[in-house]
Amino acid sequence: MRDIIIAGNWKMNKDALQTAEFCRELKSRLSDVKAEHLRVIVAPAFVLLPVAKGALEGSRIEVSAQDVSSQAQGAFTGEVSAQMLASLQVAYAIVGHSERRQYHAESNELVRDKVQMLLQHQITPIMCIGETLAEREAGETEAVLESQLAGCFDGIELQTGKELVIAYEPVWAIGTGKTATSDQAQQAHAFIRNWLRGRFGAEIAANMSILYGGSMKPENCEELISQADIDGGLIGGASLKADDFVAMVHTGISALSKGK
Ligand code: PEP
Repeated sequence: MRDIIIAGNWKMNKDALQTAEFCRELKSRLSDVKAEHLRVIVAPAFVLLPVAKGALEGSRIEVSAQDVSSQAQGAFTGEVSAQMLASLQVAYAIVGHSERRQYHAESNELVRDKVQMLLQHQITPIMCIGETLAEREAGETEAVLESQLAGCFDGIELQTGKELVIAYEPVWAIGTGKTATSDQAQQAHAFIRNWLRGRFGAEIAANMSILYGGSMKPENCEELISQADIDGGLIGGASLKADDFVAMVHTGISALSKGK
């Protein structure tokens, strides 16, 4: 059975006080959540990871970094290594987010190196892929996904499929208020799972959670998560509001109770 994951990507939002307060609120409001196969994750800025970890101690909410260095250690000013994240018991790191690809020219090869580094330290990569509007309109969505998957997984071996999460994030839907329709999203997710089946085999493909990201909010979350191959969300804007984030966690729980 696949896990449903509700993950909040806070990007460059929330300072130390806001992070601590928000995490304490989530901890208290989600304290009675017992669902097996549900993972709840928040991704604050690097510098606030220990603040979030501290405020969430004793809760089931896990913490993710928003990126990681592709290098192990050394003269790489400003970078944060997988070893550093592991030393803080950070369980996840987002890699290949479209904002990193756009503003920092990150390539699939670089994303692959980051994935490798994270797996070596038993940190679960949340690997983002997705097409731009121009690529979708040119009918290139599947070709783009295929080339991102091939590049990001080049040389990567997996054991179970649970040690990595994919986030399908159509770039045109991120932070724009435009959501992919559930059909568009399901089609892309099914394509990704099929690709995984060809590359890693049926079991790994069936085990891997594939999240949707792109203006997910309480109003569209249920419809998206009810799709066969959508196993939760990587949520930006709506994850910054406690009411919305908690509502989406409950949507995940109710999807599980319906046999998802
Ligand atoms: C994201 O940044 O991963 C994201 C999906 O953002 P938003 O939900 O704001 O579109």
